[in-house]
Amino acid sequence: MDNAITVALAGNPNAGKTTLFNLLTGARQHVGNYPGITVEQKEGCCLHHGQGLRVVDLPGTYSLTAYSVEELVARDFLVNEKPDVVVDVIDASNLERNLYLGCQFLELGVPLVIALNMIDVAEKRGITIDAAALGKRLGVPVIPIVARTGRGVDQLLDAVLKVAAGESRPQPAFLRYGSDIDEALTDMMPFIRQCTELTAIYPERWIGVKLLENDTQIGQKAIATHPTASAKLNERCEAVVNHLQNTLGVYPEAVIADHRYGYIKSILHQGIVTRKFVADRLYASDKIDKIVTHRFLGPLIMAGILFALYTFTFSYSTLLVDWLASFFALLNHGVDTLLPDGPLKSMITSGVIDGVGGVLGFVPIIMFMFFGIAVLEDSGYLARVAFMMDRIFHFFGLHGSSVMPFIVSGGIAGGCAVPGVMATRTLRSPKERLATLLTVPFMNCGAKLPVLTLLIGTFFSDHQARYMFLATLAAWLVALCAAKFLRMTVLRGASTPFVMELPPYRFPTLRGLAIHTWERTWQYMKKAGTVILGISILLWALMTYPSLPDERVAHFEQQRQLAHTTLAPGTSENQSEKEALDKALQKIKATEAMEGLRNSFGGRIGIACEVVSRYAGIDWRTNIALIGGFAAKEVIISTLGTAYSLGDVSSEDATSLSERLAKDPGWNPVVALAVLVFIMFYAPCFVTVVCIAKEAGSWKWAAFSIVFNTVFAYSMAVAVYQIGTWLY
Ligand code: GDP
Ligand code: MG
Repeated sequence: MDNAITVALAGNPNAGKTTLFNLLTGARQHVGNYPGITVEQKEGCCLHHGQGLRVVDLPGTYSLTAYSVEELVARDFLVNEKPDVVVDVIDASNLERNLYLGCQFLELGVPLVIALNMIDVAEKRGITIDAAALGKRLGVPVIPIVARTGRGVDQLLDAVLKVAAGESRPQPAFLRYGSDIDEALTDMMPFIRQCTELTAIYPERWIGVKLLENDTQIGQKAIATHPTASAKLNERCEAVVNHLQNTLGVYPEAVIADHRYGYIKSILHQGIVTRKFVADRLYASDKIDKIVTHRFLGPLIMAGILFALYTFTFSYSTLLVDWLASFFALLNHGVDTLLPDGPLKSMITSGVIDGVGGVLGFVPIIMFMFFGIAVLEDSGYLARVAFMMDRIFHFFGLHGSSVMPFIVSGGIAGGCAVPGVMATRTLRSPKERLATLLTVPFMNCGAKLPVLTLLIGTFFSDHQARYMFLATLAAWLVALCAAKFLRMTVLRGASTPFVMELPPYRFPTLRGLAIHTWERTWQYMKKAGTVILGISILLWALMTYPSLPDERVAHFEQQRQLAHTTLAPGTSENQSEKEALDKALQKIKATEAMEGLRNSFGGRIGIACEVVSRYAGIDWRTNIALIGGFAAKEVIISTLGTAYSLGDVSSEDATSLSERLAKDPGWNPVVALAVLVFIMFYAPCFVTVVCIAKEAGSWKWAAFSIVFNTVFAYSMAVAVYQIGTWLY
């Protein structure tokens, strides 16, 4: 039989391989030994629809890592002999455990058919298995059989022939093993690729996993084929081992196994297995999941936990944020008094200290947020949140795991897109991840909130709460629709199947949490810090240069002198005179600052932009604030404050910005709404942009995010303004 198809029967011990083998081959079999090893090899043949089959009964194994002779033999046969089809014989009454090996076949990328054996036993125990659904989830045919009686074996062979007729070998399944191991695998890839003799036989990622699982055979082969690369690989593996030992007290093997079981569990969770006698076998994790992922209770518990995380992050971090802010204010003040006036001082205070301060200002938030996320992640709860949210997010081309980034970025109003963008790391598919990190900046972050509050409070004061709620709702809607749009255009592609890992619940260790939190925080500081320092100096220059011409500077100096002589002649001790002088001096300073800003490149850009922005009802003064808002959205209010203090010099009482806007003829509720919409959706602040560039791996996406968001925000603002003016 030259054109015979080779079929390997593999599976756990006692799953019924030999029974199936005997049924198929009858008397046409012979028993031998694997060359050099005393493990029995049975081989036989049979016919199905005229097609000859060479059937090999492999030794029973629980895994494919070279820990035992059986495992080694089974694996070597699969990779060296390359059977046309591998039939994984599974004990249906013990599905989860048996699928563990099946999962490894998927990872190895062998052409697979799953024989769901002992279905009679399962039925007797009241277990029903939806084989078709299971097959769809796993991406391979799953055929229920009873090897003892021959039930279903015809269908099994049909499936075998079909798989054998398929031209290409299936892609190895891509499983996630948690951030530590996944990152290590990414790091190892270049070195694995150097071991060409290995990659000729095994999938690249699989080699990495085996090395992390401490597989001696692959390790030795790596040394033999490429000693230097192998040394590098070894180094990286040891780093992971040490890291996992330090944080979780486990070895990579255990983490990998956990994730495989999680993968299986999440599949079986989706109504594939129904038990008539529920009570008998529920493990602790399953018991918790019964409540935590309950149809009604689940979302309630989730909302509660997320709310707690949120409160924890943003209310407990404020103390540190304030503390840092006052520290930098103090530093600024120190430099202010020490250095003489001039460009150097201005650069150090407004460029360097404000820039670095801006970056470090996020650090407490990031630390708290990541600590909270680490608790949820290490305990296993985060996967459940993703599990529950997947359905909704799936509709928008995202993934259940996208929910965290959205919430972190301000899904409940008042988050921050910087940790939000970084939280997208839990997403498995690059396209879903990009779609998520490009749309999270649409959320109402904490820095946008004061502006929203100001504008809503000024122009829509009678429905403040309602408008704030609407703003949050609008942010979600826009973000999700934008994601859908991206997934239908630039990021088109199939969404990852509805499969997520549900690892068992674990008590997080304090040490592990601390290390996870610190790692991420440090990464942020290191990555963002350098670029941000550069950009903030650039922005400072943009707002400062060209400086005012000499005669204008002289003019303001003159005014100052004038104020001194008219308002407070001599060294007066008069309190009211002093106050009047202070006020006058402040006004002169504000006017000078405003004129300087107007004269600067930034100001000129603002004025130039008015050509476009006036269609949205936005004038050049607001433009400058919006440009400043690119540095940090917090700046919008202060810049607006400076901009609208102009032309107000005559009035004695310093009115609040809110009152000034309300009185300004250029502002009305329609303008306010247009500005509101623009601020909510335009380019993310540059700290976020830097993070997007780092996380997406290219500045192209960062630039895209600036342009896409701004164009979108502008169109929305124009629509609001034009329609609003027409109706108003
Ligand atoms: P192997 O270790 O995978 O080769 O498993 P065996 O073929 O030796 O089977 C282990 C035991 O399960 C034997 O006692 C079989 O008779 C029994 N068995 C195999 N298939 C079935 C089945 O479909 N239904 C039932 N009830 N028992 C089976
Ligand atoms: Mg056997």
